[in-house]
Amino acid sequence: MNLHEYQGKELLASYGVDIQRGKVATTAEEAEASYAALRDETQTDFVVVKAQIHAGGRGKGGGVKLAKNLDEFKEHSNAILGMMLKTPQTPGGLDGEGKLVRKILIAEDVYAPDFDACEEMYISILMDRAKKQNVIIYSTEGGMDIEEVAEKTPDLVHKEYIDPNLGLLPFQARKVAFNLGLSGAAFKGMVKFISNLYKAFVGSDASLFEINPCLKTGDDRIIAVDCKVSLDDNALFRHKDLAELRDEKEEDPTEVEAKSYGLNFVNLDGNVGCMVNGAGLAMATMDIIKLSGGSPANFLDVGGTADAARVEQAFRIILRDPNVKAILINIFGGIVRCDRVANGVVDAYKNIGDINVPIIVRLQGTNADIAKQIIDDSGLEVHSAILLKEAAEIVEKVLAKHQ
Ligand code: GDP
Ligand code: MN
Repeated sequence: MNLHEYQGKELLASYGVDIQRGKVATTAEEAEASYAALRDETQTDFVVVKAQIHAGGRGKGGGVKLAKNLDEFKEHSNAILGMMLKTPQTPGGLDGEGKLVRKILIAEDVYAPDFDACEEMYISILMDRAKKQNVIIYSTEGGMDIEEVAEKTPDLVHKEYIDPNLGLLPFQARKVAFNLGLSGAAFKGMVKFISNLYKAFVGSDASLFEINPCLKTGDDRIIAVDCKVSLDDNALFRHKDLAELRDEKEEDPTEVEAKSYGLNFVNLDGNVGCMVNGAGLAMATMDIIKLSGGSPANFLDVGGTADAARVEQAFRIILRDPNVKAILINIFGGIVRCDRVANGVVDAYKNIGDINVPIIVRLQGTNADIAKQIIDDSGLEVHSAILLKEAAEIVEKVLAKHQ
């Protein structure tokens, strides 16, 4: 689950990480009130107006603007609130339709008053699965595309691996501060920043923190100016407060709906819809679809029960995708009996009515033969198979007919 910048900053601040302070607004009136309140707190007229959407690169698309007085502030906040913001990371990129900006963050200008003395650095924390360790990735070259820095000047991107049994050791935080070229108060500030940032990462069960830029100000403070935070969905059960921060408006609407039915669904861009029970089998099914010349339109794990109601919801969700040319149902009847699933498929098929894409059903496990009989006798346009290989061959034939 991804957080908005303002939510991520609140999370960091609760662990003692210094952040660029700000206030959120959803309307022009709120924005003006927030501006006045922030000005009282910070004693400066300079603020940045920042679009709050789940995508980076906002600055490039005109979603981050500095205002030096109230008039400029109104102009920028009116322009950004409600705009369709296009960034390299919104759907379709800079040429796409963009994402609607429903909220803005009105933040203090932390680069003032000594803009030239500021240094933008890059810091992220994530899990390196191959090494089975968290890693802090950092660079003096912040504020810009880190991918580009890594490609052109890989020497400027450093990595610090953290032993999970020991946690972040003090010398490691000092090493990061040293490699970032800091000294004096800024060095000390960075050691504290890194330590608290790491505590926040572990404490919130995050899968990614990206602070870009992390700023050294003219007076040697270290501040998180931007932050991208992704939390591990599987750990949210022990962070009820964080789970509430989910902004479903920013997520794929079909995926949100699927979740409400207990379906584990991810939209993909292929042509074969899949309905499978179990994540491992779902992945194997996607491989088989690839091998048979198709490509999966989605990942869909209907879970252990695969009852008629769920099968029907899953059908409806898959059928909404116009790219789907065939649907492969691949269920292993271990906990659930195959004949029950087969009846569920037949019922769902009849309930929905005009399904005009071919359906290939492969049921294996308890009562698989009875299930095949049920499908074959149903009189519906459903092809049945018991072996996955047979199912793949039918998918291949069906797709060939469509071309
Ligand atoms: P992103 O484009 O989505 O990554 O959004 P950021 O929060 O990183 O902001 C983009 C850029 O705006 C930063 O790299 C900074 O250069 C600039 N920026 C952000 N906050 C301030 C600020 O307080 N003052 C000034 N002068 N510039 C800022
Ligand atoms: Mn940024």
